[in-house]
Amino acid sequence: MSNTPARLDRALTVVGGGVIGLTCALAAADAGWQVFVVDAGHDERASWVAGGMLGSLGEGHPGEEAALALSVESVRRWPTLVKRLDDPAIVTATDSLFVAGSAADAEYLRHLADFVWANQPRTDATLSTVTGREIRSLEPSLSSRLVGGYRAVGEWSIDNRRLLATLRSAGAAVGVRFMDARVESIADVREQAGPRDQILLAAGLATAALLPEVPLHAAKGEILRLRRTRWSVPPPGHVVRARLHGRAVYLVPREDGIVVGATQYEAGDFGDRTPQAGGVADLLADAIEVMPGLRTYELTEAGAGLRPCTADGLPIVERIDDRTVVATGHGRNGIVLAPGTADRVLGILEGASA
Ligand SMILES: Cc1cc2nc3c(=O)[nH]c(=O)nc-3n(C[C@H](O)[C@H](O)[C@H](O)COP(=O)(O)OP(=O)(O)OC[C@H]3O[C@@H](n4cnc5c(N)ncnc54)[C@H](O)[C@@H]3O)c2cc1C
Repeated sequence: MSNTPARLDRALTVVGGGVIGLTCALAAADAGWQVFVVDAGHDERASWVAGGMLGSLGEGHPGEEAALALSVESVRRWPTLVKRLDDPAIVTATDSLFVAGSAADAEYLRHLADFVWANQPRTDATLSTVTGREIRSLEPSLSSRLVGGYRAVGEWSIDNRRLLATLRSAGAAVGVRFMDARVESIADVREQAGPRDQILLAAGLATAALLPEVPLHAAKGEILRLRRTRWSVPPPGHVVRARLHGRAVYLVPREDGIVVGATQYEAGDFGDRTPQAGGVADLLADAIEVMPGLRTYELTEAGAGLRPCTADGLPIVERIDDRTVVATGHGRNGIVLAPGTADRVLGILEGASA
């Protein structure tokens, strides 16, 4: 619920209604801003295709210490956001299991865990080792060939599509207005907004088209959605993050099924959102190896999205002129980072209006 009544002198136009734009819009409306969101629709929205893992410990890679710290800080804000949205069903799992298909895969996971332990910033999640036997007692539907790994208690997943709908309705309830339209240029937004209004550019990858000085590249990812049938074993209770044949595959539970993701490779073409057969085949084969009962699930969707990435792996959240703030470049962690980015954007906006 909004704490602060909207003030006429604090108006904000948000370009982009993905997870970043919507979370920032809600935070600003709650702080008393009059907010207007312009969005081109979900066809181009990475937030729509995402797996929804709140991976912080599981996303720590050597060389990405600053990104890990940002993720952990943002993950700490997630319980408050879920409470604010008053929709606990957004959270589809509260713990994650990291599992390996072979001794070599287990060694890879051990390196990642060592890195996280060495760099562990303040976190509410805990990481502990699990044997193959313990994995099967936690998740009996997983393959008996898995050799062990780690359990991250407190590492959640989110139903990203439900999240987007709930963010939108929570925003509408506190006065955020929405328009379904494509912004062709920043000049148009400036012209249509009031002369003192603030503008937040949160159009994901498309921010680079609106503002060419924002350097982004695209990391394409295929991802699958499977629905449980009456003959199927239930989805796992954990997020299952597997390392198999030197590749990563994850299974993220949903109320009625599982999201299987995701490939990751450089996409030269910012418009290429079609899944390739090779990526889909690898994901399906690996996911079924991890959870053989997945064979009886219905494959309801094979999709692909483009992650908006920066060269240093850190999001761009900054003021670029007296009226314009940018929030983009959240790469493979936009859902994780959304509440943290919303706080940073609000801080920048409040500084501007002081
Ligand atoms: C396969 C895959 C799996 C992923 N899994 C995870 C995960 O498990 N956890 C996680 O944290 N992150 C994950 N991500 C990353 C995450 O999805 C992104 O980091 C995040 O969605 C970025 O959010 P955004 O709001 O910046 O951009 P987007 O979600 O892309 O939203 C941008 C919005 O701007 C709108 N827009 C674009 N151009 C214009 C315009 N000209 N005018 C008006 N509106 C415009 C679009 O319509 C869209 O709604 C995944 C990504 C992919 C592709």
